[in-house]
Amino acid sequence: MSGTLQPGDLVLLTDRKGRRYLLTLVEGGEFHTHAGLVPHDELIGGTEGMQVRTTRNAELTVWRPTLRDYVLKMPRGAQVVYPKDSAAILMHADVFPGARILESGVGSGALSLSLLRAGAVVVGYEVREDFAQQAVENVTSFLGSEAAGRFQVEIRDCYQGIDAEELDRVVLDLPEPWRVVPHAAASLHPGGILVAYTPSIIQAVQLREACETGPWAAASTVEILHRGWHIKGDAVRPEHRMVGHTGFVTTARKLAG
Ligand code: SAH
Repeated sequence: MSGTLQPGDLVLLTDRKGRRYLLTLVEGGEFHTHAGLVPHDELIGGTEGMQVRTTRNAELTVWRPTLRDYVLKMPRGAQVVYPKDSAAILMHADVFPGARILESGVGSGALSLSLLRAGAVVVGYEVREDFAQQAVENVTSFLGSEAAGRFQVEIRDCYQGIDAEELDRVVLDLPEPWRVVPHAAASLHPGGILVAYTPSIIQAVQLREACETGPWAAASTVEILHRGWHIKGDAVRPEHRMVGHTGFVTTARKLAG
């Protein structure tokens, strides 16, 4: 999205210390921090990349949030899939525009946002109505109504079955993905891909065992290690802190016959 900032647009404000604030512009609105306030009207009509000062003279830079910014700041109930893992899931699941994907659970919709932004048509199964509603709100708020029209969330237990045929992909982030493996085998077309995200390696192993007894091949499990580097003059070294663990990404493809 480009052009001037309008009422209703999402913006991300960053300060010199790297703090980040997400807000929706409202005519007459005010953004308050401990470092003073900025009237929204100062941002409306401006462009991203501009810098403004609060009433207490703190400098803030104005951006349209990236998907990564949004996912880390959006309202959430369940734990979200981290951007580094969503990026890998997109590639492992080979998501393409128009891909028919069953996703379960939906949670706060962080992973759904990535699938939809890559152009997929997503049916989500989620047992918690409040999470389902939050996910739809998050998708609509960041991607708008076109993407929300490709996102259908049903309040259902995925362990009970999948009501679809000839799916391109099944993407899972729920506690017992192995219970969905037989349903995925029945609903994917040959060559279709199953991807599951699991925080624990025990879950990944149990999933792999379930895949061994069905029409599956090319199974793999990976974790994504993401280490930032501090680069400032002669001080060039890895960051002292990193997110040491999030989850494992397991992939398998369905055989014919
Ligand atoms: N991937 C999501 C987070 C999912 S958290 C995101 O990135 O935002 C796991 C979700 O699975 C929770 O919302 C939970 O309610 C849901 N869930 C657990 N068991 C389920 C089941 N059997 N069927 C459907 N959803 C289930």
